[in-house]
Amino acid sequence: MASSSKAVMDDVGGREGASLPSASSTDARKRRVSYLYEPSIGDFHYGKGHPMKPHRIRMAHNLVVHYGLHRVMEICPPFPATADHICRFHSEEYIKFLSSVTPTAAEAYYSNPSPPSNALSRNLKRFKLMDDCPVFDGLFEFCQASAGGSIGAALKINHGHADIAINWAGGLHHAKKQNASGFCYVNDIVLGILELLKHHRRVLYVDIDVHHGDGVEEAFYTTNRVMTVSFHKYDTEFFPGSGNVGDIGFGEGKYYALNVPLNDGIDDDSFRSIFRPIIQKVMEVYQPDVVVLQSGADSLTSDRIGVFNLTLNGHADCLRYLRSFNIPMMVLGGGGYTMRNVARCWCYETAIAVDVELDNDLPYNEYYEYFGPDYKLHIQPATMRNKNSRKHLEKIRNQLMAQLSEIEHVPSVQFQEGPPDIEMEAPEKEDEATEHRAQSKLWSGEFYDSD
Ligand SMILES: [Zn+2]
Repeated sequence: MASSSKAVMDDVGGREGASLPSASSTDARKRRVSYLYEPSIGDFHYGKGHPMKPHRIRMAHNLVVHYGLHRVMEICPPFPATADHICRFHSEEYIKFLSSVTPTAAEAYYSNPSPPSNALSRNLKRFKLMDDCPVFDGLFEFCQASAGGSIGAALKINHGHADIAINWAGGLHHAKKQNASGFCYVNDIVLGILELLKHHRRVLYVDIDVHHGDGVEEAFYTTNRVMTVSFHKYDTEFFPGSGNVGDIGFGEGKYYALNVPLNDGIDDDSFRSIFRPIIQKVMEVYQPDVVVLQSGADSLTSDRIGVFNLTLNGHADCLRYLRSFNIPMMVLGGGGYTMRNVARCWCYETAIAVDVELDNDLPYNEYYEYFGPDYKLHIQPATMRNKNSRKHLEKIRNQLMAQLSEIEHVPSVQFQEGPPDIEMEAPEKEDEATEHRAQSKLWSGEFYDSD
């Protein structure tokens, strides 16, 4: 996979990743940015009508290149993660099956699902490889590229080769230790964080996907070495049905999981009014050594699945704000089902990472027709009701501020400075706390063929 990236590598200037100076810069320092990109990623298909389309990552990349951003950062193809890498979090049984199951075999079960009569169908059911998470052609290679990108991004940061490392093919936050969930099979984020924990004492994970970052929260629910903060639509009917404000972590991890439950129609101003104060307080009390941002784009306005009303400005303000703390940062993708807007968003956020201002007129590119009729970078909010009253947001904010004041100022975690080869065990959340979670689906099953 890595060898197919010659063309991209040839095109890279400024290997040291010097960011361009910009008049709009609010924080003085330039950042060295590494951008992990596997050129074949856009060729993967989840299946006919499935809303998750890896093509959006290629569209974003195409905009990045046509805006010339590849000249001011390092672009590198990731090494595919091996089954061994992936099993640092996932169970061996699950990964063994995931890496060997074929679409043809799975199809036989999908077309006649009951009763599960053989080992294959029992495993498809057990590992939840159906409905939202079908077996598709090249599935494991796709997971290897996505996870390889996030592990590669973590290595860039661990070795001090980048201040910001981006992997838009990552951010698959719903994947669980033993099963697929919500379009996610391998949790690249957990794998990336486990790598970061070899060199960093405290990792802050921030998730702005419209869905709760349940897989990452669960993986680190009982440790204070990772603080997870997820902003999402919360409703027991809305996938995954978890992430209420009272879910705060367990044991050593108590108070180190934060959930910001939001309602439909949140706009840029409302989002900022809750995001900034909470993150400011988190930075103050937790003082992370490194930040991981899951920048899921299904929280944008007019998403095919999402219910928020953010424009690129409101969405990217999260990255802008986190970046201003000048802490090494890993930036990952996630959801996002209106492809043209996902591409716009992740290109714009790449520009923020390197501190370049982009013209609102989109450059001509291979997917230009997707961006009509206006062919602009920025998007307008929809006319929809913001169901997040000021009172509601204030209440949530106060509750979270109270939670944050409970935590020990800068937890002194057990951490051995030195050789990077300590094998970390992924902490497991107590079964009790996860047992009764709603099992809603992310995708209703309706067809999403065009964008
Ligand atoms: Zn999502």
